Amino acid sequence: MKKIGITTTVPIEVLIAAGYQPVDLNNVLVSDPNPGRLVTIAERAGFPLNCCTWIKGIYGACIDYGIDDILCVTNGDCTNTIMLMEVLKLRGLNAIPFAYPDHPDPQLMQHVLLRLAATLGTTPEASETVRKELQPGRDLALKLDGLTWKENVVSGWENHLWLVSASDFNQNFPEYCRELQDLLAVCSQRQPYPSGQLRLAYIGVPSVYARDLYRHLERQGARAVFNETQRQFAMPVPGKSLAEQYSSYTYPYSIQERVKDIKTELRRRHIDGVIHYVQAFCHRGIGDIVFRDAIDIPILTLEGNDDFFLNNHIKTRIEAFLDMLQRRRSLSANTGQRKLEGVDAPLRNINIKS
Ligand code: SF4
Repeated sequence: MKKIGITTTVPIEVLIAAGYQPVDLNNVLVSDPNPGRLVTIAERAGFPLNCCTWIKGIYGACIDYGIDDILCVTNGDCTNTIMLMEVLKLRGLNAIPFAYPDHPDPQLMQHVLLRLAATLGTTPEASETVRKELQPGRDLALKLDGLTWKENVVSGWENHLWLVSASDFNQNFPEYCRELQDLLAVCSQRQPYPSGQLRLAYIGVPSVYARDLYRHLERQGARAVFNETQRQFAMPVPGKSLAEQYSSYTYPYSIQERVKDIKTELRRRHIDGVIHYVQAFCHRGIGDIVFRDAIDIPILTLEGNDDFFLNNHIKTRIEAFLDMLQRRRSLSANTGQRKLEGVDAPLRNINIKS
């Protein structure tokens, strides 16, 4: 199958129906043994230093890995992609625009899917057939997610890795399913993580230093049991058609769609604190204001740029945040005990924002 690069999660069912193998260029960047060199390719080509690392890495990945066809999401992801697309065209690559509707609406989405299918030379019917073929892989990813927060036998990193990979199923759907089935079998034999462990939510775009981040959290006695965007990549609300599936997918639409999803999961998963990751020079960082207004548990906002590892400054901030959450938890346990014993009047719930 001919490879087609994608700049974020898109209706890959249409691409596969058209005979393409989707390649998530973000995953190519972070899986590269030396991702910094892909960013350098872009900077040498003239991309500004204050341009997001993901955009530069995507450009570098197209050039270095010889990806000639790229589906560029121009609405519903990143405005930088519009100019990235122009540069890719300038380099002689086949950059195809794809725009999510302005708001989640299955009818509007159906138009978008029809247009994409026509552009790539396939049909909506063939794409629906692929949707059914991919569903077992999505089900496995969501099963892993359930084992993460209900059974507590999956690490935050494993959760991140397998959900984020659902954007292109690691470019090999049968192998993705086989490997994930094996992992699920291993997980079901594990002892659960300790019940006293802090439970975290990770919201925002996947981080450039994910590999380090999740492991550092676990070394400090905390675990991410909710990865917001990564879970969305696995399509947690599949609906009855592609149009419904990609209308329930929250990431491309208003931040309020995301807030609704996040608040539901924070409650359901008994989250102690939230890590909001923002990428340097990304417009989505402004959304931190909205999240802090809407979410009433402590939030730590972490920024990443082009370091693919955690530096000491970030580690210290994480440790201070976790320490505060631990003390907050003890305080609320003591308060509950005192209320049970009728020792004092109820204390107001504290709301500490880092
Ligand atoms: S992190 Fe932000 S600026 Fe970078 S590619 Fe994603 S949406 Fe665009």
